[in-house]
Amino acid sequence: MLTVLSGTLEPTATYCRRSWVWLSTGSGEAVVPRTGEVVPCLGLLWITVQHRPRRWYELPHTTGTLPAYFAKKPAGVEVDQYAVEELEPEQPGTRLFALLNIHDREQGEPYRVTVGGVNRCRCLAGVCRVPSGCKHRSAVIALIEAGALEESRELVPY
Ligand SMILES: [Zn+2]
Repeated sequence: MLTVLSGTLEPTATYCRRSWVWLSTGSGEAVVPRTGEVVPCLGLLWITVQHRPRRWYELPHTTGTLPAYFAKKPAGVEVDQYAVEELEPEQPGTRLFALLNIHDREQGEPYRVTVGGVNRCRCLAGVCRVPSGCKHRSAVIALIEAGALEESRELVPY
């Protein structure tokens, strides 16, 4: 069954807008375009974030001398697409998900996102405990709340 859901996430200190789209075809797998590999997954997750406008022009040492390029530069938008798979949790009472960025060659291993109990993500922002949190964890929690990640399958041990 085809399932498409979408929603927004709370803005953060870094991003003024964050949103997600979920697509599940029910096939239980997806192709990773960068490798051609077929991976098991519950569905595909797009996360879009928009950076807050750059405020460099407010720094005292640049006042009045800023090149027009910077003043006119639009706030950047980033879109990432992940294959999401649920794994056997490390601790009871939690759920563990693997988010594999299917386009980013820099990401070797999927980010492991734990929710319930201590919510955490093993991405750079998640490990570093950025105060505003990471988009992976926020999106997975939103997916659970939207009913996209029902517990119904045998889980793959990590
Ligand atoms: Zn993360």
